[in-house]
Amino acid sequence: MVKAIVGANWGDEGKGKITDMLAEKSDIIVRFQGGSNAGHTIINDYGKFALHILPSGVFYGHTTSIIGNGVALNIPYLINEIKDLVSKGVPEPKILVSDRAQILMPYHILFDQYEEERLGKKSFGSTKSGIAPFYSDKYAKIGFQVSELFDDEASLKEKVYRVLETKNVLVEHLYHKEKIDPEEIFRTLIEYREMIRPYVCDTSAYLHEAIKEGKNVLLEGQLGSLKDPDFGIYPMVTSSSTLASYGAIGAGIPGYEIKDIITVVKAYSSAVGAGEFVSEIFGDEADELRRRGGDGGEYGATTGRPRRMGWFDAVASRYGCRMQGATEVALTVLDVLGYLDEIPICVGYEIDGKVTRDFPTTHLLKKAKPVYKVLPGWKEEIRGITDYDKLPEKCREYIEFIEKELEVPITMVSNGPGRHEIIYRK
Ligand code: GDP
Repeated sequence: MVKAIVGANWGDEGKGKITDMLAEKSDIIVRFQGGSNAGHTIINDYGKFALHILPSGVFYGHTTSIIGNGVALNIPYLINEIKDLVSKGVPEPKILVSDRAQILMPYHILFDQYEEERLGKKSFGSTKSGIAPFYSDKYAKIGFQVSELFDDEASLKEKVYRVLETKNVLVEHLYHKEKIDPEEIFRTLIEYREMIRPYVCDTSAYLHEAIKEGKNVLLEGQLGSLKDPDFGIYPMVTSSSTLASYGAIGAGIPGYEIKDIITVVKAYSSAVGAGEFVSEIFGDEADELRRRGGDGGEYGATTGRPRRMGWFDAVASRYGCRMQGATEVALTVLDVLGYLDEIPICVGYEIDGKVTRDFPTTHLLKKAKPVYKVLPGWKEEIRGITDYDKLPEKCREYIEFIEKELEVPITMVSNGPGRHEIIYRK
């Protein structure tokens, strides 16, 4: 059976922890999109890890981790992440890399930096991991598939020279930087070939057999619905689809195999980078939530940047769940809110004097003002509670109010960063 785990918001919902829990019961975990631009934070018996490209199953001896064809594969980054785990005592994980995954090239990172620099104040707030240039090249058909590394060297070299001819026009005349040497890129690719060789296979065929054998497969999404290039806050989105439906394509399996879509929703809002964020809060109110948020504060797992903070946004989260096709919701970081006397929830957007519950396109979103409903806080520490009925009444009211707004059952409530800090609802 195939399950997907995805985010309903702007990312950083705490997917890492839920994935880590679900991975324990999975045979295969697949990354299907994105690259090393976002990170999961996982705390387990080996320590605290920020995984950027490896799937969360890497800590278990019984799982196979797959980097699917939809991923932006940064080869040295992947190899370093594997080395780092092993050096911290994690047993060597079993990893397979799709022969159809494309390679994140060193110049993708450069172009990401150059373009953000050029845009100045109008920049996207990119993590500068090369993701946007990577996907641009993929769809412009000038990307490099892993399989091409194993083609004859003359063809590979010819392609490198051809692709760099146009890239260097931009480097020289738009960005005014040092030209990229095709010979060096070719040599790098040969190094990449040897680094990745042990892991490469036809992962789609592998998954086809695994599904036939009834194996448990988990598709692991990165970021959240609101960062999807089609359905998110375009253009302040990521460059590959963050939706569970894309999981089928990015892993190479039929869409109808995905039976369960566990959508992670955060009990308040946070976002990194620029873009519309209707329920955003500022000043001391935001600082306090940021400081108390997540595990040791709300700061980016990849960049360390302070995250933007806000109240729970029911309009955005309901839409986020709908676009994911959520079958169940995991509500996370609820414990963080225990300090508040009252907790506002954004239940509508006022746009041009009219209140809507539907998440609009970006040009309308820019005009949206939050309409809040204020619920009473529970003013209690809820960490350590394992039984839903033992939660303070006001806390259950908060959860049940959100559930009604989402129109999807909340089956799990996370009340702490640790792997077993989870309350299952019957
Ligand atoms: P992801 O990108 O969705 O995996 O999100 P991250 O893992 O980057 O961010 C979530 C942060 O919140 C991490 O530091 C987690 O350890 C932490 N976290 C996850 N769930 C909970 C929770 O229920 N309570 C608290 N306090 N922290 C949590």
